[in-house]
Amino acid sequence: MNPADLPRELTCVPPPETDALLAAVRAVAQGPLKQQVEAIDRQGHYPRAVLQELAKLGAMSAHLDMPAGPGSYALAIQAMAEVSRVCGATGFMMWCQAVCGLYMQQSGNPGLMGDVLLRHASGAGLGGTALSNPMKSYAQIESLLLRATPVEGGYLVNGNLPWVSNLGSDHYFGAIAAVMAGDAPADREVMFLLRCDAPGVELRECPSFSAMEGTGTWGVRLKDHFIGAGEIMADPAKPYIARIRAAFVMLQCGMAVGVTQGAIDSMWAVESQLGHVNQFLEDRPDTLQAELDALTRRVMTLADTPFEPSAEFFIDVLDARAHGAELCLRAAQSALMHQGARGYLMSSEVQRRVRESHFVAIVTPAIKHLRKEIARLSAEEQPA
Ligand SMILES: Cc1cc2nc3c(=O)[nH]c(=O)nc-3n(C[C@H](O)[C@H](O)[C@H](O)COP(=O)(O)OP(=O)(O)OC[C@H]3O[C@@H](n4cnc5c(N)ncnc54)[C@H](O)[C@@H]3O)c2cc1C
Repeated sequence: MNPADLPRELTCVPPPETDALLAAVRAVAQGPLKQQVEAIDRQGHYPRAVLQELAKLGAMSAHLDMPAGPGSYALAIQAMAEVSRVCGATGFMMWCQAVCGLYMQQSGNPGLMGDVLLRHASGAGLGGTALSNPMKSYAQIESLLLRATPVEGGYLVNGNLPWVSNLGSDHYFGAIAAVMAGDAPADREVMFLLRCDAPGVELRECPSFSAMEGTGTWGVRLKDHFIGAGEIMADPAKPYIARIRAAFVMLQCGMAVGVTQGAIDSMWAVESQLGHVNQFLEDRPDTLQAELDALTRRVMTLADTPFEPSAEFFIDVLDARAHGAELCLRAAQSALMHQGARGYLMSSEVQRRVRESHFVAIVTPAIKHLRKEIARLSAEEQPA
């Protein structure tokens, strides 16, 4: 039997409720989502209904502590992988929604928790994250793009963000601005929830991307946008980011695992016909599957302690995320080699996945950013 025909779990042996959630997520991914993938990729269709269906199942809030019970990062990552296996763009939006929920819950701000968070978890509220620029700023790759000027009761925020995903006119996202002392930065940042329909917020169309067109990605211009106590997630932001950074990065592994699995599926799909010649290729599906399974087990272990504060743990998370991106690139490329001309058709999921794998490699933290951080933190860890 062709291994691609087997209902393959992306984990070892999940407990029953995990099993039920993943089966429901898989049904949405292989059903309504699969039918829309081409429209998402080629026409920029934003799959709002699918995202809301996934949210109702608990797929994007599985990591959050809820009245029903404590969260599971392992489950959230597996759910994202099931979706990314079919559509990398939707898998990325699951991550956007999931980290936005993480920001809200970890803020401890009553205005962003309780019913507001439950609304977010249910998918009635949709949101994203604009933390690429701050994450790169903390890694000394670029400077902060938003500036927050203190005023009575809060801040006025100004600046432009080039791209923020999972947005629409009624959406919101977590952002960070440099706090100003007069004309100069005050060496402190503030993190806040930014609502797209608030005064002083303008969404601007982005240029066309090579993939991820249906991800609701917009440029955001802020002109004297007021944020007050109800929006603040962390002030100062740095200690908060240090607390959530491993959780933020590890959740992205769901995208890498899923896109890689989808590429392996495409290799098996042509095995009976082309195996006689494909056997001469590198990165065969059984080898890649073994590497992916080992990486998945590693990520599942890391997911047991998402808020472990040590630098050593964070380095391990960065390394697993980098391995995921590299494996994803190799698998997508190898799937194209395995499928040949049929994989080169514009309508083929194989060439779409090549473009999706490029995104996994460049979305913050990009492979180069991951390597820079691993080098910096490892040097700090060395005894003097
Ligand atoms: C489809 C898509 C969706 C994204 N969604 C989000 C999101 O939801 N949230 C988020 O925070 N970030 C988002 N990003 C940004 C992403 O995470 C990376 O930060 C970005 O791709 C650049 O990362 P890099 O490390 O490779 O920087 P580099 O590409 O090395 O960039 C270096 C600098 O040049 C700038 N730059 C390069 N090319 C251009 C250009 N054409 N126009 C303007 N500036 C440019 C970069 O912003 C950066 O400041 C998205 C990017 C894309 C392409």
